[in-house]
Amino acid sequence: MSVRVRFAPSPTGALHIGGVRTALYNYLFAKKNAGKFILRIEDTDQGRFVKGAEDYILQALKWCGIEPEEGVGYGGECGPYRQSERKLLYHEQALELIKTGKAYYAFDTEAELEAMRARLSDAGVPAPKYDASVRMTMNNSLSLSQEEANQRLTQGMPYVIRLRVDPGLQVSFKDIVRDEVSFDSSELDDKVLIKGDGMPTYHMANVIDDHFMRISHVIRGEEWLSSTAHHLLLYAAFGWDHPQFAHLPLLMKPDGKGKLSKRDGATFGFPVFPLSWPDQEQSESSPISLKESEAKPPVGQPGFEGFREYGLEPEALLNFLAFLGWNPGTDQEIFSLEELVGAFDLSKVHKGGARFDIEKAKWFNQQYIRKMSVAQIKARLLPYLKADIWSISASKLDQIISLYQDRVHFIKDFPEQAAYLVQTPDAFDKEAFKKHWKPELQEKIAAFNEDLSKIDSFEALAFEIEAKDLLSKHGLKPGEVFPLFRLALCGSLQGPTVFQMVEVLGKEGVSRIKSQLSHMASFV
Ligand code: GLU
Repeated sequence: MSVRVRFAPSPTGALHIGGVRTALYNYLFAKKNAGKFILRIEDTDQGRFVKGAEDYILQALKWCGIEPEEGVGYGGECGPYRQSERKLLYHEQALELIKTGKAYYAFDTEAELEAMRARLSDAGVPAPKYDASVRMTMNNSLSLSQEEANQRLTQGMPYVIRLRVDPGLQVSFKDIVRDEVSFDSSELDDKVLIKGDGMPTYHMANVIDDHFMRISHVIRGEEWLSSTAHHLLLYAAFGWDHPQFAHLPLLMKPDGKGKLSKRDGATFGFPVFPLSWPDQEQSESSPISLKESEAKPPVGQPGFEGFREYGLEPEALLNFLAFLGWNPGTDQEIFSLEELVGAFDLSKVHKGGARFDIEKAKWFNQQYIRKMSVAQIKARLLPYLKADIWSISASKLDQIISLYQDRVHFIKDFPEQAAYLVQTPDAFDKEAFKKHWKPELQEKIAAFNEDLSKIDSFEALAFEIEAKDLLSKHGLKPGEVFPLFRLALCGSLQGPTVFQMVEVLGKEGVSRIKSQLSHMASFV
């Protein structure tokens, strides 16, 4: 049987990072098994439909590089897959279940349902529900005479279609991640399959689509585990084989206390969405532009910053997400998408929740930047460079990139961290300067500087050798001079070596040392 998996998000808002992890695991499993990765938009809940969400999902998957081969926007033999467009199919199938007695029409009004729940509650039932124990006391095609039920239907009385769940059955399956899972059907309600508005419920549409789309493996978040009980009953009611299931562990808050929610991003100061998304509870604005060229934080707009705008490279994000719930069982942590496909094993996915650690995501990003070529970094960096400040030669930019490639966590950090290489810094670490500045050495250092300015080869190593020679000639020690030079060049004690900085700055580096030293000394 060929492997066909689906990612089935509902367009109820931005795609949560947990959803991206689900999509990734589906993608990896499909690729690993020469299967198909399908996208299905589950948009049957009209009350929760959010404009722009479907587009967001498509853009997010595209940005991450895990695009579906079938589904919305991909045409193909059965696409596009959007449940709202498949209403007829769900209806036909519901009628089949009614014919075989596995489902029934229910005409109960909201008030009648409320009265039933109150009655059960008063009788001490902890979780009142519409099930076999109350079914015959309600208004449905099982409790009413056939004539009466038909009459109600022909009169156009509102109805839902419910699944008839027989009590006392053991509903079991073997989950790829969680092993044996079992439910007692007496705990389950007669789930609504077709709602009053004619739309199928999630359960109904999901099962029918998984069957007709020949889905071999359902890989989804653990929050759907309990729904699987009804899904299995539905497969059985239709007389269909069910797909295999794999329920992925929850993503947990950084402190491990509870499930990661969309508000946690703001609480803990990191994104929970792949791309920016306006906070629709706070603003009326339409979704911000998703275009790559406008990949900027939503300035001045209440909203959620995405991982893209935060500065994570998509490959690093995928590598990070792959490890939230799985690992290859070796020491290797850095994987390209292709390598992930090779190494991924669904049966090695963990049962326990995966703690979301943003520091680890940053680490992956740093590792990924280290592996990129200068040209790749340059292409990503250019949109962040302000033309008036960064009008430098291509070779100088390459030099700066190489110098900072191992030092930054994000590509967008380059301009700020390396700013002193294109502009004299206007601030410096005064405390550090005071600590290192010895007025009695001022003259010796000035003479040393005079000699330095005669050097005209700035290649780091050669400059270092010459500078150190001159240093001993002037009776100075490296620790007495170079921290001061570093402060003069970049304003702080951080960053590359003085010689590496001079290599990029050339002659201007040496003259900056001179002028900044006297500027800084005037503050002491
Ligand atoms: N529409 C569900 C969701 O939003 C799909 C769950 C499933 O994969 O079955 O996640």
